[in-house]
Amino acid sequence: MRLLTVLICSRRGNAMGRKGVAADAGFRYAGVMSFAALGQFPQYRPRRLRQSPALRRLVRETSLRAGQLVLPLFARAGRKVRVPVASMPGVFQLSPDEVVREAAAAQAAGVAGVILFGIPERKDEKASGAYAANGIVQQTARLLKRGLPELLVLTDVCLCEYMSHGHCGIIGRNKSRGVDNDATLALLARTALSHAEAGADVVAPSDMMDGRVAAIRQALDRHGFSETPILSYAAKFASAYYGPFREAAESAPKFGDRRAYQMDGANALEALREVALDIQEGADMVMVKPALAYLDILRRVKMEFGHPTAAYAVSGEYAMIKAAGAKGWIDERAVTLETLLAMRRAGADFIITYSATEAARWLKEG
Ligand SMILES: [Zn+2]
Repeated sequence: MRLLTVLICSRRGNAMGRKGVAADAGFRYAGVMSFAALGQFPQYRPRRLRQSPALRRLVRETSLRAGQLVLPLFARAGRKVRVPVASMPGVFQLSPDEVVREAAAAQAAGVAGVILFGIPERKDEKASGAYAANGIVQQTARLLKRGLPELLVLTDVCLCEYMSHGHCGIIGRNKSRGVDNDATLALLARTALSHAEAGADVVAPSDMMDGRVAAIRQALDRHGFSETPILSYAAKFASAYYGPFREAAESAPKFGDRRAYQMDGANALEALREVALDIQEGADMVMVKPALAYLDILRRVKMEFGHPTAAYAVSGEYAMIKAAGAKGWIDERAVTLETLLAMRRAGADFIITYSATEAARWLKEG
């Protein structure tokens, strides 16, 4: 008899030693599945269950809903300002009033929330704009919570958009030594706290400094924000897919690159260690970024920890689909939805995507 028992999920070398069980995570973890019960062709014919839309719906394993999508928005000073981002058709730098308009449209389509990035009027060597009480993200968060109280407001917590040099932390006197990890933590904590004070529902540190989640949790707890969740960009890879974002957020580093703090794309086990650390430090949700080229990481993170997990479908992923769609080379709508579904299937509970509003509308249309 042929060996019919297939180990579908090897858990050897499991550092956490826990059973990975996730109910609505886009997959069910069965441990060991015995195919012996299935029988063989011609008794077993998988096509029987693909005959009609109703049958296919009945046995569909993964769902994609508008409520699982979050829309990134770029806020800048002014009124009625909409500056198009050339490499991301449909994406704009928006003044706070326009952010509210865009967010209202997302909410009407069923999108769960927005994540805010700020483009300050001035940058300096201390990223003052990141934690200013009246900084661009703080102003916009307040306006959003006043106008659209039901919509989730997440805020990206980082310093790069506010630093004159464009790096995610403080650069010491000796430039060649790069970002000073420990000196940066206090500023990140201060930034997250200022976002919570402005009404942010979730703060999301994206800097990749060691120890930032603990520093942020401590600052929030000390100041009465023990109920504000942290979504950590736990496994954030140094990626060429971020190219268009840097134009959108005006955050390209003026020297060097971010490889000394963002992760090496070759490392999966290190990603699991990063996630483990962030969970231990108090991350309520963890993120894998980028998404499409890192679906294996997403899968492993969800299987290993069963923690609420997000995927960030980044600017380059969006740009590729938009560009090919505009040329008529692919069906933009079908490819967008298939790609988002793949992220859910891989293990994402929710997805941050520039296509959120559009995808939500398409899902509604069916
Ligand atoms: Zn940054």
